[in-house]
Amino acid sequence: MDVPTETISTFAQLGLSPATLKTIKKIGYETPSPIQVAFIPVALTGRDCIGQARTGTGKTAAFMLPAMERLDVSKGRVQLLVMAPTRELGEQVHAESKKLSGTSRLKFALAVGGRPIGRQIDDLEGGAHVVIGTPGRVIDLLRRQHLKLSDLKIVVLDEADRMLDIGFRPDIERILKSCPTERQTLLLSATLPPPVEKLAQRYMIEPEMVDLSEDRVVVDTIEQYYITVDEDRKKPLLLRVLAKEKPQQAIVFTRTKRGADALYAEFTKRLKSNRIAAIHGDLPQRKRDQVIKSLRAGELRLLIATDVVGRGIDISGISHIINYDIPEYCDDYVHRVGRTGRLSSDQNGRAITFVTLQQGGELTNIEKRINTVLPEYKVDDFEAFRTRERPKRTIRKFGAADE
Ligand code: AMP
Repeated sequence: MDVPTETISTFAQLGLSPATLKTIKKIGYETPSPIQVAFIPVALTGRDCIGQARTGTGKTAAFMLPAMERLDVSKGRVQLLVMAPTRELGEQVHAESKKLSGTSRLKFALAVGGRPIGRQIDDLEGGAHVVIGTPGRVIDLLRRQHLKLSDLKIVVLDEADRMLDIGFRPDIERILKSCPTERQTLLLSATLPPPVEKLAQRYMIEPEMVDLSEDRVVVDTIEQYYITVDEDRKKPLLLRVLAKEKPQQAIVFTRTKRGADALYAEFTKRLKSNRIAAIHGDLPQRKRDQVIKSLRAGELRLLIATDVVGRGIDISGISHIINYDIPEYCDDYVHRVGRTGRLSSDQNGRAITFVTLQQGGELTNIEKRINTVLPEYKVDDFEAFRTRERPKRTIRKFGAADE
């Protein structure tokens, strides 16, 4: 492929097969997204590749289209393994991949936890070419010898940063060690912190970097604000923000499961609404599915979520992200805010972060991370904090020299 990436504007220029192009046309994708333009031609060559992209940028098609092109459908063995951090994301990738596989006759198995393993075993024994799963269940199926990786050609680590955050490192390493050394490894990650880089160094061979400067995507398409508030004034503030913003759909992020439950209990009562739900890792899978389904269907106005579950939810109607609790890690900020202002959404999103007086340093770290100083969100006639003095804030532009 000699066409320089800046001049690529159609899928036909990416080196994909006529059958795949036909499927893409049928699905209705008109132009490839930036990550697709940059990632697909490299991945098609069989080289290892690292793509910095978040959910919502078209990254699933960016790795699935070239990966599926490289499989031999006549061989009923697992040739492609995709690992994702959460069941929700695994299911989403599974559904999207099936759609993208068109008439190729590729068979898929979904290997995520919280689902009956019997059906997954049947799919594997039935000659699945592609397995999409969460690391825990993949290990389980490997151990029971229903999943065999001897013919594996490609392994994909989707949302690698999140998988490591969740603590999947030992599982991932075990799985990678079970893969043939002669394979292609594709890694997708919204951020590239040192643990992800280390993983890449150890398990990838001279990977090509596709850097789409994730931060710019977030900053360009989403209006982001912060507001200083006393811890005990957060609830009334949230009510005021909701009344002012009238979000089409909002996700309110809390740090803890208990925090999410408490907020949910109080807000269903106060707002007298049944269009609110909470989602976190302790909820049974069936309930989690129901919640996501009603959010997708537009039935929910407000979803209260923790980081683990809130991530990877691909929904285009989210107009507002409210960080009720400032995220513990600044990378989580990028992930949370990435829930809005999405590829398939024609409207820009808004993100508002609640910051207590003690959390000024955490806000500064986030601002450094996204290389932007957030403006203050104003709510008229609202006493957000009771301290006599307003917090001091040095406004400055962050640059590389601040590192
Ligand atoms: P993802 O980043 O993979 O979660 O994709 C986000 C959404 O964008 C999904 O609903 C995809 O179906 C959709 N999508 C992916 N690629 C394209 C494209 N080139 N044009 C339009 N929509 C796309």
